[in-house]
Amino acid sequence: MPQSAERVLDHASLFKEPEYEAMFEAKRETFECPHPPDKVQEVADWTKGWAYREKNLDRKALVVNPAKACQPLGAVFAAAGFDGCLSMVHGSQGCVAYYRSHLARHFKEPASAVSTSMTEDAAVFGGLTNLVDGLANAHALYDPKMIAISTTCMAEVIGDDLNSFVIQAKDKGSVPQDFPVPFAHTPAFVGSHVNGFDVMVKAIVANVWESMEGDPTPDGSVNIIPGFDGFAVANNREITRMLDLMGVEHRLICDVSDVFDTPTNGDFQMYAGGTTVEDLKAARDAKGTVSLQQWCSEKTLEMIADTGQQTEALHYPMGVGGTDRFLMAVSAMTGQAIPEALELERGRLVDAMADSQAWLHGRTMAVFGDPDFVHGMTAFLLELGVEPVHCLSTNGGPAWEEKMKALLATSPFGKDTQVWARKDLWHLRSLLATEPAEFVIGSSHGKFLQQDLGVPLIRLTFPIFDRHHHHRFPTLGYQGGLRVLVTVLDAVLDKVDRETEETGISYDLTR
Ligand code: SF4
Repeated sequence: MPQSAERVLDHASLFKEPEYEAMFEAKRETFECPHPPDKVQEVADWTKGWAYREKNLDRKALVVNPAKACQPLGAVFAAAGFDGCLSMVHGSQGCVAYYRSHLARHFKEPASAVSTSMTEDAAVFGGLTNLVDGLANAHALYDPKMIAISTTCMAEVIGDDLNSFVIQAKDKGSVPQDFPVPFAHTPAFVGSHVNGFDVMVKAIVANVWESMEGDPTPDGSVNIIPGFDGFAVANNREITRMLDLMGVEHRLICDVSDVFDTPTNGDFQMYAGGTTVEDLKAARDAKGTVSLQQWCSEKTLEMIADTGQQTEALHYPMGVGGTDRFLMAVSAMTGQAIPEALELERGRLVDAMADSQAWLHGRTMAVFGDPDFVHGMTAFLLELGVEPVHCLSTNGGPAWEEKMKALLATSPFGKDTQVWARKDLWHLRSLLATEPAEFVIGSSHGKFLQQDLGVPLIRLTFPIFDRHHHHRFPTLGYQGGLRVLVTVLDAVLDKVDRETEETGISYDLTR
């Protein structure tokens, strides 16, 4: 074998060694009953045609490679955004390993969450004992200020009742009676991580507000709900910076920017930063609440509106128009003017867009991801003169589709765009094979479309597993707009270089 202590090979080189090549070939022949390569190629080509596309789009009972995750992942992400909050997922252990690894692979940071570790006996008799013991262990071992419970498929299928279980656990002394244990049912077989985020934020806010006495006394401040955002580390800081420049008293409801960006200083921090209980109490007296992602906060905003607060739901405020709408919403709520410093930033972004406009005008792109991301990204592409060909969201529904169509109708660049709600990445493969776009914007999962169809992937949304540290730079606000512009432009100019380098004609130093 070529691997040795003196010469350690990475798997990419190791698996090209003849021993491994022979082993893979033997495996194919012995276990995979392979069809002849020309037949495989023939079928692969057929699946890129219109006839297969029709069948694929007709598909009802099967999802292939959905661009979404299950509800509890969103709940775990949400719980991480509160000070000293430990996420506990009631269900099987493997699910929680998946949420932790998914978040850790994206943020390159440890992601903490515990499980009630249900196994066969709990699946038959119910998970009460697991939850009673789990709460006691988690409280004793990890010293949290709050434990937020969500559920996996298994607990939901058998109908475990978290409200009753938490009451019984407290009665049995797992945690003190006054210890906060917000909980949210997050059945993974409906909705997606954006719904899980929503119900967990609502549960945590409600848990604090229900313990408060008296009526709210509005004070002129605003609450911001960032939503499920893979770029939250930088975006939350960018939103805070802009609001500080405006002189607006504000707080984020769910802030993961510190816990997913802890420094290496010799101390492991299981909890870092996050919205405090004091912040949440003050949030009840805010003049209003702005959600940066409507589809991540529908239930939470409903509850907040019931207290008499103004609410505003945006769609991931990217680019000039998106950031304008965010700042104007805050300004309208608080009466604070938008300062000159932010006007300058706006002007610089517009200047950069104008400088590069010739390279972007008329370029064609496809976008996939969460409903708010696709809306915000598409709005920015239209500002840049890019023509979106396909906009696809597995967890976007009919209401999202309507909003997308209304957005596209505002620009001539959107007149031929097709919107695909509830479709997956196998659908997108068919769509791009038959009606191509020059680029696809989405998460790392798009790299297989790149491999299969040769359409370059621009990574601008969660999860990004195969590139590092993108989430440390904002995508929201005018500064974020600059970064998104540069990312898109780099992909376009790299393609221009690839297309011209062979002949040398127009392989220019200056673009
Ligand atoms: S879909 Fe169900 S089984 Fe799969 S990770 Fe989510 S909760 Fe667990």
